[in-house]
Amino acid sequence: MTVTSDVLVVGGGLHGLSAALQLARRGLSVVLLERRHIGRHSSGASAAGVRTLGRARAELPASLVAMHMWHHIADLVGDDCGFEANGQVKVVETEDQWRQQASLVAALREDGLVHEEMIDAVTLRALAPAIAHHCLGARIVRDDGAADPHRTLAAFHRSALAAGVRIHEGVGVRTLERIENVWRAGDGGTHYEAPLLVNAAGAWAGEIAELAGDQIPLAPPKASMMIVTERTAPFLRPTVIATGRTLSFKQTAQGTVLIGGGQQGWADVSNETAHVDVLGLAKSAAAAVAIFPTAGRLRIVRSWAGLESNSPDGVAIAGLSPRSPSLMHLFGFAGHGFQLVPSLGVVAAELLLDGRSSIDIDGLAPARLMDGSAGPRRTAARI
Ligand SMILES: Cc1cc2nc3c(=O)[nH]c(=O)nc-3n(C[C@H](O)[C@H](O)[C@H](O)COP(=O)(O)OP(=O)(O)OC[C@H]3O[C@@H](n4cnc5c(N)ncnc54)[C@H](O)[C@@H]3O)c2cc1C
Repeated sequence: MTVTSDVLVVGGGLHGLSAALQLARRGLSVVLLERRHIGRHSSGASAAGVRTLGRARAELPASLVAMHMWHHIADLVGDDCGFEANGQVKVVETEDQWRQQASLVAALREDGLVHEEMIDAVTLRALAPAIAHHCLGARIVRDDGAADPHRTLAAFHRSALAAGVRIHEGVGVRTLERIENVWRAGDGGTHYEAPLLVNAAGAWAGEIAELAGDQIPLAPPKASMMIVTERTAPFLRPTVIATGRTLSFKQTAQGTVLIGGGQQGWADVSNETAHVDVLGLAKSAAAAVAIFPTAGRLRIVRSWAGLESNSPDGVAIAGLSPRSPSLMHLFGFAGHGFQLVPSLGVVAAELLLDGRSSIDIDGLAPARLMDGSAGPRRTAARI
């Protein structure tokens, strides 16, 4: 059996859904293939921080556009996705950290980018009264915030279906070939054919790229970990990250506290799973208590790790294959791709349909990581 469409999207995480939604709204017939179920991997494990603060310069144009879209997210997907713009705050604990962070904010301002500012200890304490007394101040973006990952997934899923995207769950792409002007993907049974292809396969996107003939060197996959505590009375609105420690700390609308920030568990990509590393979790907990001493009294109720692909320079991979303008790569988010979901969907549709994007994503191009030796395969390759 062969299923045909204008576009095939591989991967039913938020980036696959966002690209599929934008392409369908531009009038294309879209088939999305997801090996397990929508949101099974990184998108369903995310802390859902919506952060422009401290973004790599290459990601900043897409991140700033995404931030504007998050502030109007209901216009895009019919739900506010639980997004609250309570700010993101990067705490400084030493004079050296203050100088370093202030110089980064000053450098942004020299380039006309005024979304970040420094705040002193008094202002910080007004925003986060429970913060440890030794904290000297913070770098802040007041318009940043956080969303609810599951509401976000549900909203993008619903919107994609309403726009006409045909979503096939339980279909894992194992073969991929380009025959004349058509991509042909197979799961061992059915074939799926379309002239355009979006590779949004998360931790497995490097394999899909390779099947398509693009060798994109990647760093080892990430298995970022999270801790969630019991519910407690409201005490914190912004998301707090640390400068000299691996920490992201926020209280959800339900009262639980989410602690993460990048401590790594064990990635097991071939078995499609990730395991927590208890010693790493202990470091996360210790960092949380150093910045919020009262957090030491909270009970931990759950922890988890999520799989994600990682680029060698820590910057997202979003752009057309240098060998084929019919193939869009969208992966390598290295633990910070949630915020970019709305804008990179637009980028995917613009690049595939118009050949150029209204958002500057030159620094995200996959070509920056490639040596130019591979080419599209003419025969089926398998994973
Ligand atoms: C613990 C954790 C915390 C995070 N916190 C934040 C945060 O606070 N802020 C932020 O901006 N980002 C955060 N992130 C990162 C963010 O969640 C991810 O960047 C984003 O969700 C990636 O979405 P995706 O669609 O690219 O990948 P995924 O959600 O992983 O989706 C890829 C999908 O492709 C499918 N797939 C793979 N291979 C195939 C195949 N061969 N055929 C068919 N389907 C296939 C997979 O099953 C999967 O569902 C966090 C990530 C984790 C793990």
